[in-house]
Amino acid sequence: MGKKIDPVCGMTVNDDSEFKSDYQGKEYYFCCSHCKEKFDLNPLKFTR
Ligand SMILES: [Zn+2]
Repeated sequence: MGKKIDPVCGMTVNDDSEFKSDYQGKEYYFCCSHCKEKFDLNPLKFTR
């Protein structure tokens, strides 16, 4: 278990978060469903 950065809001989240997405073979973790939804709509915006 480790810490990840929510790419949408910049918060630190645990990597056992229930809010996560796979994008281009990488896993991204989010603090809440709202951030995950934003990421899923436009992953490019948050992965560059
Ligand atoms: Zn967030």
